[in-house]
Amino acid sequence: MSGGSSDSGSYDDLPDGVLVADDTGAVIAVNVAAARLLGRDVQDALGRNYREVIPLVDTAGNDWWSCTDPYAGLTTRTGQPERQLTLVKGRGADGHDLLVTARYVREPESRRVVRLVVCFRDAAARERVDRSRADLISTVAHELRSPLTSVKGFTATLLAKWDRFNDEQKKVMLQTVNADADRVTRLLAELLDVSRIDAGRLELRRQVVDVPTAIRRSFAGRVASGEPEDRFVLMVDGDLPEMWLDPDKLDQILGNLVENALKYGDGTVTVEVHASPAGAEVIVRDEGSGIPEELLPRVFGKFWRQAGVRRTGTGLGLFITKGLVEAHGGHISVGHAPSGGAEFRFTLPAGAPTYEG
Ligand code: ADP
Repeated sequence: MSGGSSDSGSYDDLPDGVLVADDTGAVIAVNVAAARLLGRDVQDALGRNYREVIPLVDTAGNDWWSCTDPYAGLTTRTGQPERQLTLVKGRGADGHDLLVTARYVREPESRRVVRLVVCFRDAAARERVDRSRADLISTVAHELRSPLTSVKGFTATLLAKWDRFNDEQKKVMLQTVNADADRVTRLLAELLDVSRIDAGRLELRRQVVDVPTAIRRSFAGRVASGEPEDRFVLMVDGDLPEMWLDPDKLDQILGNLVENALKYGDGTVTVEVHASPAGAEVIVRDEGSGIPEELLPRVFGKFWRQAGVRRTGTGLGLFITKGLVEAHGGHISVGHAPSGGAEFRFTLPAGAPTYEG
């Protein structure tokens, strides 16, 4: 512990609250995070009894310190595992929930408690993470259920009534099963990308990439699958520096944005590339009805789809696109094209080779 008016100097760097009481229960240190969570000044807390500084009740409303009594309880106890407890309202504290752990430092011989160390953090952040995880699981389950219901329904029908259908009818059913199986596979691949992005484990294999060529290839893929060639326009402005990007990820970014422009937009899909010494800015726009102003901040969210719009995708495409652009050190934004359609702009810093090992 370094100096300072309280004994908490080196604790002040910790994101969690720390409170230390001496062998009489008097508070001898509180760090900045603790003072904030408790709604008190550090100076005001020092010297007071720990029960007064951090009054806690359990979910049944029982006084926590009376239940556990660190100084008088079993001499074999060395602490309390993490528990969610409520800070009692009053003196600046607003009665919020804390995740609390306690450690009893005992004298080896007498087993007397010489220090009580209490660590705590705001439970709301953890709850938010848990809730968003639970939401994600229920959305994923829902997304998987509809294609699987159709796979199950058609295969069961075919198995039970095989002779009652003609070849054409069987073919239609099998095509539906095939498309739904593809949908499940696609969803699982997207979920793996989402989990890599969330965990910050997206790996880039950078190499020199010609961005305009990648865009032309993306257009060519769409033309090959039946889109008229004159729906696509590419404009390149300036000379690009040597761009070190992950070519597969760039294809995924372009593929998503071009596919969305075709799927949800209309008219010509224009891709502009503006070069700068630092890299490139890429603009993808269409001539459809665009995305309403108030919904723009939500398009990069997980599973977000505009209500009332034909549901073909999973709503993960733009979340992944954003993650891939950011993994390259770039930034993506959405707005309106001059024609009223959607306009996505992203930057790609030129990057440098990554060395492994
Ligand atoms: P999905 O995988 O369902 O296509 P995205 O994350 O790619 O999901 O897109 C989310 C939503 O954003 C789409 O469902 C659509 O409503 C809207 N959107 C995306 N691109 C466009 C566009 N070019 N024009 C209009 N709406 C768009």
